[in-house]
Amino acid sequence: MLTLECQSCGAALELEPSQRTAKCLYCGSPSVVERPPTPDRPPPSFALGFVVTPERALETARTFVKKPLFAPEAFRNAAIEEIRGIYLPAYLYSAAVYTGYRAQIGENYTVTETYRDAQGKRRTRRKTKTEWRPLSGQHATYVSDLVVTASRGIPNVELEAIEPFDMRALHRYTPKVISGWASEEPSLARDACLTMARGEALQAVGRQLGPFMPGDRHQGLQWQSRMDEEDLSLVLVPIWVLPIRYSETEPFVRLLVNGQTGRIAGTPPFSWTKVLWLVLFVLGVLGLCLGSAFVAKLFAEAM
Ligand SMILES: [Zn+2]
Repeated sequence: MLTLECQSCGAALELEPSQRTAKCLYCGSPSVVERPPTPDRPPPSFALGFVVTPERALETARTFVKKPLFAPEAFRNAAIEEIRGIYLPAYLYSAAVYTGYRAQIGENYTVTETYRDAQGKRRTRRKTKTEWRPLSGQHATYVSDLVVTASRGIPNVELEAIEPFDMRALHRYTPKVISGWASEEPSLARDACLTMARGEALQAVGRQLGPFMPGDRHQGLQWQSRMDEEDLSLVLVPIWVLPIRYSETEPFVRLLVNGQTGRIAGTPPFSWTKVLWLVLFVLGVLGLCLGSAFVAKLFAEAM
């Protein structure tokens, strides 16, 4: 195997010598250098296989770049002839999360009150009021199958955009799984990935806590969590990657396609010139309409 390090995005790609490339597969930068693989690196625990074919990934990418009408034409017409499949290193995280919380719980009740209307007549109306009481308690949950990137080249937000992966298809890693494919060795430190995974777990707990609160409404929710039975396993996930360099001066745009589900993500560039032309066109049409109405009026008055 050949290990190529990208000086631009920091990816550490592993390829078979026949797949040698002069450009980084993640960012398209030509500044890739060969380096020896990291010695004694623990192998990944699991891998997910590719389901999406290169033809389907290419077709998905072609449709995607044509869609955004306000993207520069150079982007919409970018030649999309090759897309590369890569096994991306990621961490799979699970943990039991115990949370202590405190909040004000509101129970609604209705009262009937009398009032005088504008004519001075006595009337009644029903009004909803809330009674508040303090509450503290415990919440326990188990989060599993959270995925965070272990690659310096593909930030976590980009990976999240093409999630979820179906972890039921997960199998034990053997070198045979990735033979013939490019892969990457983890280029992010395990501790940094663990912190990221815990952050995602806390977000998941936060989403559960709101609906978990009793009463009709709540406010001032404060909580603190403790993780237990944590598991962080290195897994290879299948992605199709296409860096598009459509302009000399603009940053490249990267498309990612989930190799298992075909879900695509990327942030198309925005052309302000196109917006400006549209605005000018609309103003021009308006001007023409107003102008002809004015001429028609003058003409009618003269007759
Ligand atoms: Zn790169």
